[in-house]
Amino acid sequence: MSKALVAGAGGFIGGHLVKKLISEGYSVVAADIKPIEEWYQVQPESHNYDNCDLRDYSACLSTTIGVDIVYNLAADMGGMGFIATHRVDCMQSALVTINMLRASELNGVSNLFYASSACVYNDKIQQVEQVSLREEDAWPADPEPGYGMEKLFGEEIAMFYRQETDLKTVIARFHNIFGPYGTYEGGREKAPAAICRKVAVASITGDKVIEIWGDGDQTRSFLYVDECLDGISRMMTRSYDKPLNLGSSELVSINQLVSIVEEIAGITLDRVYNLDAPQGVRGRNSDNTLIEEVLGWKPSESLKSGLEKTYSWVYDQVMNDMI
Ligand code: NAD
Repeated sequence: MSKALVAGAGGFIGGHLVKKLISEGYSVVAADIKPIEEWYQVQPESHNYDNCDLRDYSACLSTTIGVDIVYNLAADMGGMGFIATHRVDCMQSALVTINMLRASELNGVSNLFYASSACVYNDKIQQVEQVSLREEDAWPADPEPGYGMEKLFGEEIAMFYRQETDLKTVIARFHNIFGPYGTYEGGREKAPAAICRKVAVASITGDKVIEIWGDGDQTRSFLYVDECLDGISRMMTRSYDKPLNLGSSELVSINQLVSIVEEIAGITLDRVYNLDAPQGVRGRNSDNTLIEEVLGWKPSESLKSGLEKTYSWVYDQVMNDMI
């Protein structure tokens, strides 16, 4: 039985990944800095390390013993509201990235997946609403200054490990992954979860107003978590040696995103625009030409179908929080 470590297992994508790997027959080690009560999902079958700070080399060494595949999803991150104001925290994840690579090599891990981000892309080319980012657009570099810079560094060192050691690294640039069992409140949430929460609150309380960050015309694409996991698994099988976009190419404005969630909830809200809130780049879409070429695959689930599942979960959380 192959043994996999999921670093950041208490988080959104990590929690889903642990569940999937167990269902596929892997023996799973799950590690996160958070206490286990705060993990979004916990699987009794996995060997869980909570309160485990993977910035420490010793923690990376002990969690990678006997492991064949490492999935490094551990990072101190969140939506724009968090990363724009926590650059020190975001950049310290470089310690996780480096020490996980060092420990993996030393312990003879064969494959390591590194979760990078669309935030590595050059900010200057994202100042318009219609922009599809191709992998080569990350260079010349001008990434999001804290979080994006750390991810770009992480990609580079991961690729050098692949070139100079036996550790086969695989790198995905995630574009706005969303779904149930993730952050929907507290300051780290991203747009889909935040909008689902705001619409759910309006629907439950009857206070039919929604605050939107910026003018709502900024654009993004969003990938449902199950498709993200499918992409990760295909990428690990193919083991391509350079970063690949892992995102949807269904571009929407934030206003359109709100309209879809309103439609799902069967409600129409008055929109109040907060032009002082952090907004990130003006436009960002995933160009999926390369992933299609390399894997013969691209994500296909519609944004609306993913949002229906996400809204339903967020609604239940909001309802429970109010009881
Ligand atoms: P998340 O915040 O839900 O999960 C990350 C987990 O890492 C958290 O549970 C956190 O406690 C843990 N962590 C942070 N620092 C740690 C440390 N020092 N030691 C151990 N654990 C630590 O985020 P997510 O959405 O599941 O994202 C997973 C990965 O994907 C991250 O690396 C993130 O940067 C990347 N990513 C996510 C998205 C997205 O849209 N969700 C987009 C781009 C990239």
